[in-house]
Amino acid sequence: MPELPEVETIARQLAKLVTGRTIASFASDWERLTEPEPVPLIAARLAGRRIEAVRRRGKLVVFVLDGGDSLCTSLRMTGRFAFRDLGAAAPERFTRATFVFTDGAGLDFVDMRKLGRMALVDSSEIAPAESGGDRTLNAPLHLAMGREPLGRSFTVAWLRAFLRRRRRAAIKPLLLDQRGIAGIGNIYASEALWRARIHPLRTAGSVGPDEIARLHEAIQWVLRKAIRLHGSTLRTYRDSSGRQGGMQHEFVVYDRAGGPCDRCGASIRRTVIGGRGTFHCPQCQRAPRARVKR
Ligand SMILES: [Zn+2]
Repeated sequence: MPELPEVETIARQLAKLVTGRTIASFASDWERLTEPEPVPLIAARLAGRRIEAVRRRGKLVVFVLDGGDSLCTSLRMTGRFAFRDLGAAAPERFTRATFVFTDGAGLDFVDMRKLGRMALVDSSEIAPAESGGDRTLNAPLHLAMGREPLGRSFTVAWLRAFLRRRRRAAIKPLLLDQRGIAGIGNIYASEALWRARIHPLRTAGSVGPDEIARLHEAIQWVLRKAIRLHGSTLRTYRDSSGRQGGMQHEFVVYDRAGGPCDRCGASIRRTVIGGRGTFHCPQCQRAPRARVKR
């Protein structure tokens, strides 16, 4: 599933392709794409709307429309966008929806596993990524949105207060909880914890002030580096032009079980925490003394 850097890459590419274009029509033969709203209702509301911007919020691709609404897309496992000249090219296999623009261009939503979802919401519900608000978007994508880790409001002081509030939670699953910090997934949580030298099973309350400062730096460092490399490509993810990202070649722990730690040479270990494969260095990231509930 694409995380913040992958979705940021997609949103930036889409912004160049569709900003300023007007939607003539929208159609989908996958009725659950816009649930609980029926597709024809969403299609009626999209017709005639101009795309003013494309941005990212958490792991959502957000099409900002004129008139104050935004179309949010959760790509989930295999969802992606493909831009095409409607007169010249046929849609790809697994195309679930198509935006037709007034100038004859089109944008397909391709999703093999059909887990992606779209929702039309009031733009005020989606705080801009850079301001990183605490607004909660519960319905209809069932995604609560916390702070943007690259936003100005994601400060060391905020992170310290957040970890104190959730002190009993294990740190790695806490980083994945979109209601706290938006956009971090399994890959970048593992990478950031390695950089900060914090064991993924430590409780949030056991992480000291120096470690919190390191974690803050590490989260921003890994996300910025991944954005610079256009995200990482694993199995099904491609950016909207079909290219691969480059971050997967830079992983220091993720998917590197048995390989040497870049810092100390110890063997990277894979464990399962909260049902997710987790990678850490047993030497640099010391296990917590007391056992915590998994
Ligand atoms: Zn190490």
